[in-house]
Amino acid sequence: MSDFVISPPVQPAVPVAGGGLFPVRRIFCVGRNYAEHTREMGGNPEREAPFFFTKPADAVVVGGADMPYPTVTTNLHHEMELVVAIGVAGVDISETDALRHVFGYAAGIDMTRRDLQNEAKKTARPWDMSKGFDDSAPIGQIMPAGKVADPTHGRIELRVNGAVRQSSDVSRMIWSTAETIAYLSRLVRLAPGDLIFTGTPDGVGAVGRGDVLEGSVEGVGTVKVRVV
Ligand code: MN
Repeated sequence: MSDFVISPPVQPAVPVAGGGLFPVRRIFCVGRNYAEHTREMGGNPEREAPFFFTKPADAVVVGGADMPYPTVTTNLHHEMELVVAIGVAGVDISETDALRHVFGYAAGIDMTRRDLQNEAKKTARPWDMSKGFDDSAPIGQIMPAGKVADPTHGRIELRVNGAVRQSSDVSRMIWSTAETIAYLSRLVRLAPGDLIFTGTPDGVGAVGRGDVLEGSVEGVGTVKVRVV
């Protein structure tokens, strides 16, 4: 018998390619990790160390489910990203050990209320409500690391209604996946179930109700979501 005074929340989870579910503990996201995107957002890619923000675990949208257009925005943006799923706990992980902590990889979209984010930047307020809203993290199946030939290279692409909006290569990340894991593990204790969205290439833009977003990371997988 449980001592919980209300029903415990449902465990958010992401399907794994080949079967099973990956339980999501936390979602971390890297900001400005591709030079071209950093420039399009008005930043300087030469000077900035990696920084992180978070989304709630239950922001994941899985299985190609629809994503409701969020409230309080008129500028909902897509950010196509490689997602890393942590399978082994670690603190102060070295770059050379980092990929041993990875359970697998997925294609995901860091959906952003760009108008709220721009306002937050201007007023030096937190990004939480521009990044961590409900259904803000559509994600495809997680491909186990052993089945990903080379997680450091591969075309990353997002199409909206069939038209290519973002197209780059994972190798163009400023901070590699291994460097990101090492860096983040000095800030928090990484644990199994943590997801890391590793940043988006250039080409971010607005979407509206009825738009179908289809993303892919070569050798990893795809993600599909319809905004309704
Ligand atoms: Mn992002």
